[in-house]
Parts: sequence; C-alpha cells; structure tokens
Amino acid sequence: MSADTPALVAEDIHKKFGDVEVLKGVSMTAAKGDVIAILGASGSGKSTFLRCLNLLEMPNQGRIVVSGEEISLKPGRHGTLEPEDRRQVQRIRAKLAMVFQSFNLWSHMTILENVIEAPIHVLKVPRKEAIERAEALLRKVGIYERRNAYPAHVSGGQQQRAAIARALAMEPTVMLFDEPTSALDPELVGEVLKVMRDLAAEGRTMLVVTHEMGFARDVASEVVFLHQGRIEAEGPPKEMFGAPPTERFRQFLANFT
Ligand code: ADP
Ligand code: MG
Repeated sequence: MSADTPALVAEDIHKKFGDVEVLKGVSMTAAKGDVIAILGASGSGKSTFLRCLNLLEMPNQGRIVVSGEEISLKPGRHGTLEPEDRRQVQRIRAKLAMVFQSFNLWSHMTILENVIEAPIHVLKVPRKEAIERAEALLRKVGIYERRNAYPAHVSGGQQQRAAIARALAMEPTVMLFDEPTSALDPELVGEVLKVMRDLAAEGRTMLVVTHEMGFARDVASEVVFLHQGRIEAEGPPKEMFGAPPTERFRQFLANFT
C-alpha cells in the first residue's frame, strides 16, 4: 500500500428498504487523516450510509475499499450484496469502527470490560495486553478513574468517551461517528467533541455525521451535504460555510443559526 492509498473509498453506494431507495449512489473518498463531516436533514440517509460502510446494512450496489483492500461483496438472495464470509464482516467492523448516538456500551460489563471485549475475542489480543492498551485509551479519553464502573453509573459524556475508547481499541483505519453528541445533555457535548478534536489533530481518519456546525467548520477537512440519498453539495468547510453552493444547503445551515 502506498502512502497515498486512500483510507476509504466508497463508490456508488445504493441501498433500498423494500421499494424505497434511501441511498441513490453515494461516493466518498477519505485520504488518510481526512475528517469528513456528513451533514443533512433527518432521513437524508446519513446513518444508512455509515451502516452500509461497515456492513451493519448490506448495500444493494457499490464498492467499498479500505486501505486498498476491496471488500468482496457478492449478490445475495434479497437483492442485497453479501460479504464473502462472516470473518470478513468482523474484519471490516474492526477497520471501520463505529461510534453511535446512543453509546451502545454493553450494560452488563464495566467500562474496561467493554473496551477489552472485541480486542480479545475478535483480534485475539492476549488479555493482559488488551487491558494495558485499554487502560491507556481510557486515560487518553479521560475516564480511566471510572474504568470499573458500569455504564449506567457514569454520565452520558463518560459513556460516549468510553465508546470512543472501545472503537480506538480496534485500531481502526477509519472511525465512523453517527451523531455522537446528539443524545447528550448540552453541558456534556463539549467533552466528547474535545476528544474528537484531539483524534482529528492526531491525524485519524474520521467520517462524522453531526449537527455540530462548529465542529464541522473548525475540524473537518471536507464537508458533505446529503439530501434524499444523494450528495447535494461537498467541499472544504471554508467554501461550504462561506458560500453555500446550493440554496437547499443554505437553508439547511440557516436552521443552525
Ligand atoms: P438519517 O440518518 O439521515 O436521519 P437514515 O439513514 O436513518 O437517515 O434513514 C434514511 C431513510 O431510510 C429514512 O426514510 C428512514 O426511514 C429509512 N430507513 C432507515 N433504516 C430503515 C430500515 N431498517 N427499514 C426501513 N427504512 C429504513
Ligand atoms: Mg441518523
């Protein structure tokens, strides 16, 4: 793999639910270190796009290439593509780790156990090493002190930071964030955005579905505006926010000021 091999190439991704096509050919390329902010109204297909990338949903059409490795998808029975095998799905989910709006930590496990689970069982990292790495990641996101607490006993901001540590533990090629701060009380949003800013500054490749326009403007290298399952506008944040290229995007932005 050469230095300029993109971290992620998604090409012409289509997704139907029944007869309704919610993604009508979405393409996106993330170079290493890119932070792509994905904006769009509710229902425009943002979550479905991220979910198709890490195969939580199976696309009906399209190509996904991660660090030069093409995901081999074959036509399945239900008009969707299917991965070649189960192990491939696990590999992809490890390479494209997702952080969800609702944290999705396992409630019956402590914070630390949440972070070591997949490294031990999917990546086959020895337990002792997994714990050491998890502790370092929990320090990095600022919740090492709470490592033995159960998710229900920590704040939403702490849960989301734990979820970010859990994603990082997979050493992903690209991190996918689906509205990571939308479920948080306003006073807890900042601590999660701070962690994400730090990750961006470290050169991590990130796709971030967000309604945090400040984050998109300041941190993103590229802004993509989805409308009804298509990319309606895209460009560097300076251009997108400075001179919105379409009327619809201008109106979308007006909702945030
Ligand atoms: P966004 O994240 O931008 O709000 P989504 O990707 O969640 O949008 O949804 C896009 C469209 O797809 C919506 O109309 C939604 O109702 C529909 N949709 C999403 N998931 C499913 C599903 N599992 N089954 C049927 N329709 C779905
Ligand atoms: Mg969504």
